[in-house]
Amino acid sequence: MKNGIHPNYQRTTIRCACGEVIETGSTRKDISVEICSKCHPFYTGKQKLVDTSGRVDKFNKKFGLK
Ligand SMILES: [Zn+2]
Repeated sequence: MKNGIHPNYQRTTIRCACGEVIETGSTRKDISVEICSKCHPFYTGKQKLVDTSGRVDKFNKKFGLK
């Protein structure tokens, strides 16, 4: 590996809004994110976002899902 390609690569802490802390390597330091792999609905399979309009509930009733 040539010097200068990854000049600032270092240990970095990514803090998510859900409280999850992920240690990784990055050229950036102390990254803050609003969503991570631990709380993203795609990964958790849960409906985490607030459903204010009740669309999900209507959808579930329409298709007979609980
Ligand atoms: Zn998170």
